[in-house]
Amino acid sequence: MTNNGLKIIEELESCVRSYVRSFPTVFTKARGYKMWDEQGKEYVDFFSGAGALNYGHNEPNMKKKLVEYILDDGITHSLDMATEAKVNFLEKFNDVILKPRDLDYRIMFPGPTGTNTVESALKLARKVTGRTDIISFTNGFHGMTIGALSVTGNSMKRSGAGIPLQNTVTMPYDNFVSEDLDTLEYLERFLEDNGSGVSIPAAIILETVQGEGGINAARFEWIKRVDDICKRWGIMLIIDDVQAGVGRTGTFFSFEPAGIKPDIVCLSKSIGGYGLPLALTLIRPELDSFKPGEHNGTFRGNNHAFITATEALTYWEDPAFEKSIQKKSDQITTFLDKMIKENPEMKGHLKGRGFMQGISSDVDGFSEKVAEEAFRRGLIMETAGGHDQVFKLFPPINIDEEGLERGFEIIEQSIKETVKTMNLEKDTVAN
Ligand code: PMP
Repeated sequence: MTNNGLKIIEELESCVRSYVRSFPTVFTKARGYKMWDEQGKEYVDFFSGAGALNYGHNEPNMKKKLVEYILDDGITHSLDMATEAKVNFLEKFNDVILKPRDLDYRIMFPGPTGTNTVESALKLARKVTGRTDIISFTNGFHGMTIGALSVTGNSMKRSGAGIPLQNTVTMPYDNFVSEDLDTLEYLERFLEDNGSGVSIPAAIILETVQGEGGINAARFEWIKRVDDICKRWGIMLIIDDVQAGVGRTGTFFSFEPAGIKPDIVCLSKSIGGYGLPLALTLIRPELDSFKPGEHNGTFRGNNHAFITATEALTYWEDPAFEKSIQKKSDQITTFLDKMIKENPEMKGHLKGRGFMQGISSDVDGFSEKVAEEAFRRGLIMETAGGHDQVFKLFPPINIDEEGLERGFEIIEQSIKETVKTMNLEKDTVAN
């Protein structure tokens, strides 16, 4: 059956498909951190839909609310008309997330994906400032539509555009060049010297932890300084929290520990809670200047996602939830540190923070092989970075101890096996 299913995909689905190549099996069922394929093989999911399943698969409370809503003929599609599901979501998001963090934002619903919220943010910043350019950072990833792609670093992704990607300038992210080079001193010189060839941009866009670009975490003081620069130069600061948001780094928004309040925040992936498409663009009220319908779309405000998103916010009503994420994040750090020390052959470096950590290996192809081996042993894990040099631990943020331990065990075995199959033990001895 599996071979048949994969054969049909190979015959009928576009070559652009990618994750099925890394995880070549036909999945049938999932719950929490577990997935099963049609052979009944069980997998531990340390991928979480690339950050769209922060609460795991088919979370029971969200499922119950959604099924009840559907059985009760609740509204499914409504463009951006008023629905009870939307009203309830807006109110709870404001009460549980924004108000306690002293954040005052208007909530815009762009199309349902990450790239949709990024497009809306870039357009809005350009409209508000009357400027055209956007500054983005090396290894940033913001999506695949032309605007979002133009602020994305990866050359393979950029080459898919088919037209020049314009009106953007890339600057070095924190630690991009070396630990000694102050990348923000460099950026600011470009802004202040009118011989630099760089105009004052409408916005600076960044991820506080770069998900696709290699789990690069910017220091909080670096993020704070970007915010200061934006304020001094009247530049809009857009934080793309599509991947790092919704608890992934340990707090609801990834920028909270840096103590900043961005002008615009992009959210998608896990904001819907259940893996249903939903995106929000949070806008400082003074900037809320699109005319009615000036930026629209048929699938804004996915009511089913509103139902699950509202239920998901219940997790955040209890401060113990945030603490539990942070405690388990420490366990992930401890585990990865141990792996790096016990397996010097992989030449590994710890990356990221919170539930967004991984190991970057200086050995060509090592991380990809670890992910492959882990899949064989029943764990789903992605790689990141321009050369897939990072293997990336992305368990659901509500995973239990047993799930974490099971994942750790498979990763440890996969690392040891990869060291063996790549003959790295010999290398180390020879060196
Ligand atoms: N921004 C970031 C930071 C992302 O990680 C992603 C997706 N990986 C996107 C934007 C684009 O989201 P989507 O794939 O839903 O368009």
